[in-house]
Amino acid sequence: MKKIAVVGTGYVGLVTGVALSDVGHQVTCIDIDQKKVERMQKGVSPIYEPGLDEVMMRNIEAGRLQFTTDHHEGFSGKEVIYIAVGTPEREDGTADLQYIDQVAKDIATHVKQDVVVVTKSTVPVGTNDHILSLIQEYLVHDVRVEIVSNPEFLREGSAVYDAFNGDRIVVGSDSQRAGDVIEEINKPFGIYCYRTDVRSAEMIKYASNAFLATKISFINEIANICEKVGANIEDVATGMGMDGRIGHQFLRAGIGYGGSCFPKDTKALTQIAANIDHNFELLNAVIRVNNHQHRALTEKAKSVLGSLEGKRVAMLGLAFKPNTDDMRESPAMAISQELILAGATVVAYDPIAMDNAKNVMPAGVSYVQNVEEALQGADAAFIVTDWKEFKALDLSVYVDQMAEANVFDGRNCYDLDKVALTKLNYYSIGRPPVV
Ligand code: NAD
Repeated sequence: MKKIAVVGTGYVGLVTGVALSDVGHQVTCIDIDQKKVERMQKGVSPIYEPGLDEVMMRNIEAGRLQFTTDHHEGFSGKEVIYIAVGTPEREDGTADLQYIDQVAKDIATHVKQDVVVVTKSTVPVGTNDHILSLIQEYLVHDVRVEIVSNPEFLREGSAVYDAFNGDRIVVGSDSQRAGDVIEEINKPFGIYCYRTDVRSAEMIKYASNAFLATKISFINEIANICEKVGANIEDVATGMGMDGRIGHQFLRAGIGYGGSCFPKDTKALTQIAANIDHNFELLNAVIRVNNHQHRALTEKAKSVLGSLEGKRVAMLGLAFKPNTDDMRESPAMAISQELILAGATVVAYDPIAMDNAKNVMPAGVSYVQNVEEALQGADAAFIVTDWKEFKALDLSVYVDQMAEANVFDGRNCYDLDKVALTKLNYYSIGRPPVV
């Protein structure tokens, strides 16, 4: 059992803190957001993540999990400090390290004992060295500080499951001892620990996200070609995925990736490359393809309906993917902006992300409380997020509620044979339309 502090209680920090406490460690989570901390102290998670509240409450009650806004109190007596603050994108695409730098200075000011600092946040290659030298520059007490890069691979929407069932844990350290401490902490999870140096660990994270984004843009391009040549992307992806060298995962065509990681991490990696005068052509194309793919539904709607001026569009789903309330870089924002510019009225519904959406969606979008209300009198429905609720709909709801049952499905939620039995005009991605 180790005494651990986790700085930052977003999707990564909170899940990390909760999971570490659940395997027996004594964990204090620190965040500067007072409201978040007050909620967490009461056992309420500030984010929607399936299963999180329950594990959180269990460990608060067992006395293994605490929350504070006070770095001094949070770091007191801790052997290990995890950094899990945000590294958002700057305007030029590079990673903004201001929160990381602040934590480094906080650690330097407050630690009074030897400590291993572990970076969970996704940071450009070389940042862990920078964190360590910043801590050493500002260090108040004479203590030993070592650093480990431990990038996070959890997926929002299944983060709790992933914390206990990840494919690997990457531990990058230039100090054998510090790496051993982190490997030991993670032993109870029973997940393979891959040991490497700090810079390789930092690179593994960016390379992994860039590769997954590449798979998505690749299959979306194949889908766009399928539409033109009369092939079906679902069959194509299934046939491709049966090749063990390719695999089935991340071969689902759609309206492109969004979320807090792929868009910013792909751009950051092109910048990391540009800094050493390397033009990462492939990744630049992946990003361009993705931006274009966000327009797929609107382009289809324009070609089917002609002008969108005065049309009422029901937007089903706002979150960037199901089972999360995270709206960061969700395609729903770009799509609704385009619809509004084209003169359409947008009526939106999402089962979980609506509160967050209202803060970031373009002005002019209106919100309703259920699918039926969204569809009422609509000329078109756009399926943006493949929530289970939408996949399970009785398709007659579209026909019953809409002025005209034109469904533009950005996530290929429905079986074409089933759609063919209805009166829907159905347009999906990379598959023949059903009209
Ligand atoms: P987030 O924005 O949800 O949370 C960051 C938290 O840090 C916020 O609650 C903020 O208040 C807090 N914070 C900022 N400065 C602080 C400080 N000085 N002291 C204490 N708390 C502070 O971020 P996230 O989505 O959890 O991502 C965190 C990092 O993990 C990022 O680098 C991200 O790229 C990476 N990552 C995210 C995911 C994901 O799915 N979200 C997956 C893998 C890796």
